Amino acid sequence: MTELERDSDIDKTDDDVENADIDESELSGRAGKIITLAKRRGFFWNSNEIYGGSAGFYDYGPLGTRLECNLVDIWRDIFVIQEGYAEISTPVITPEMVFSASGHLKEFTDLMVECKKCSEPFRADQLLTEHHPQPDNLNAEEVNGMLTEFGIKCPVCGGALSEAYPFNLMFKTNIGPGSKRIGYLRPETAQGMFINFHLLYRYFREKIPFGVVQIGRAFRNEISPRQGMIRLREFKMAELEYFIDPSDKSHPKYERIKGLKIPLLPAGKPQEEAKPTTVAITLEEAIEKKILGSEVMAYFIGLTYEYLNSIGLSGPSLRFRQHGEKEKAHYAEDCWDAEILTSFGWIECVGIADRSCYDIERHNEYSGHTLAVTIHHEQPIEREVKKVIVDNKALGKKFKALSVKIKAALEKLDGNKVADDGSPLKVNIDGKDYEIDRDCFEVKTVTEKEFGKKIIPHVIEPSFGLDRITFALIENSYYERESSYRVLRFKPQVAPINAGVFPLMAKPELVEVTQKCIENLKNMKLNIFYDDSGSIGRRYARMDEAGTPFCVTIDYDSLKDNTVTIRERDSTDQVRIKIANLPKILNDLIEEKLIFKEIKAA
Ligand code: AMP
Repeated sequence: MTELERDSDIDKTDDDVENADIDESELSGRAGKIITLAKRRGFFWNSNEIYGGSAGFYDYGPLGTRLECNLVDIWRDIFVIQEGYAEISTPVITPEMVFSASGHLKEFTDLMVECKKCSEPFRADQLLTEHHPQPDNLNAEEVNGMLTEFGIKCPVCGGALSEAYPFNLMFKTNIGPGSKRIGYLRPETAQGMFINFHLLYRYFREKIPFGVVQIGRAFRNEISPRQGMIRLREFKMAELEYFIDPSDKSHPKYERIKGLKIPLLPAGKPQEEAKPTTVAITLEEAIEKKILGSEVMAYFIGLTYEYLNSIGLSGPSLRFRQHGEKEKAHYAEDCWDAEILTSFGWIECVGIADRSCYDIERHNEYSGHTLAVTIHHEQPIEREVKKVIVDNKALGKKFKALSVKIKAALEKLDGNKVADDGSPLKVNIDGKDYEIDRDCFEVKTVTEKEFGKKIIPHVIEPSFGLDRITFALIENSYYERESSYRVLRFKPQVAPINAGVFPLMAKPELVEVTQKCIENLKNMKLNIFYDDSGSIGRRYARMDEAGTPFCVTIDYDSLKDNTVTIRERDSTDQVRIKIANLPKILNDLIEEKLIFKEIKAA
């Protein structure tokens, strides 16, 4: 067996590809190292860099794009394939009316202050983080009070600040030429699903509950985006709207997830503590203890937890935090955020909200389109009711042409509220009162059949921010082996590259065998990276930084005995296997059907 270069020989620095224009010292600690690595290896970088960069915009490079695709594929597998929710795709540019109805035009604002001297804008709450544990929950009056109380000045030039005022975060545009038709870039994908509710309801054979998902870009004109990929002006979301009957907050698959033990941080706990008290309990216990209000919310917290675990986000850096009363949107009945600990602190990556009937009710009202649904009973419900029964002949004789309107008004009355003392009834027709004697009607008890009930559906919305998840995953996967040797420990199915495949040297006879191996691996739909430059140790180091779980090396022994060396990123162990077995072994490793230690050496 050829002794390949071992990990101890690997160069600690990979300065052949170091990007000179990044000054790591300008970026703080761990986040800085990750942002530097992300740029050097092609995960992501600030957009429009050659023109000075644009705050709040990031480009994904080849590895970042692939990584995010893998995260989306796993999301789709859970939500679209396994859960059976329908995926739709609606335009980014949306007419103003939609956002009048949704409330975004009025409410989708952050409080902003401007420097009176240098005109620099700031998010008002960000200037108060040292003085309040949750300044984003403060209203304008409270913010202005605190800005004055603590004598806050412009952090850039020290100038006086304006009063705080609401700034709408939507990007405005014109639809078509001229300024007659106003549109906005959507700040979430959700509205596209709400305004199509009636069509989707029909698609689902007029039965609820059902779920609809949309994956796409959203735009928010954030006032002063910092923190790299955490606060972007253009970002990607994967959202689910699950429409339910408000009287039934169960979930058909609750039994499957109720035993999951989840770290929950309920509202009301002292969240300002440095170490907040998160309780790890099962979803079933959380419902029993009234920490969670419904099975359906528990189900989506469970499903979100499973998704985050499946991509490699688990353990103590994941928690679910409930919104307090002040933080919650006014229409939301309950809201929990899946938060991940990064070097920027706990970051909301997924919001799971019970949005009540707000969305559908608003579009019902603003569009004039009936978006209510009928929930059909399994058996018609029979009930005895008192009704006003009109004697058409007597009424017609007395009131002639007006009798039609009077009959309609009488039949609308609640029979239970009509006195049984034989007194006449009063109705108002076109502004005039009429007294109707008992000879024109009687009050009878009749049996009525109810076939269904009309309701406005409630919506449960898990909303995933894909860029934050991508960043949090890169950060949580990052570690340093020895002092400065960097590794991204991605799960094999998530890693942008499945395997690096190298000839020991760039000699034609080795390259030929390597290319044959690669062809067979590509036929298995594996994403392979070929590299023949630099020492093997350096090539391993590059793959470790890219998060590639396995590397395969073809050497001169391969030509003699048809074997190759396969190396595992995390243990750095190496084993020789038959070339013929390589596709199956690698595929099983990536699907986590096989663990590296179990591989039998050839
Ligand atoms: P929200 O609709 O505000 O609850 O946002 C839903 C999800 O979108 C959040 O959990 C974040 O992951 C993501 N998100 C919201 N705003 C931004 C932003 N400015 N930049 C990046 N991701 C965001």
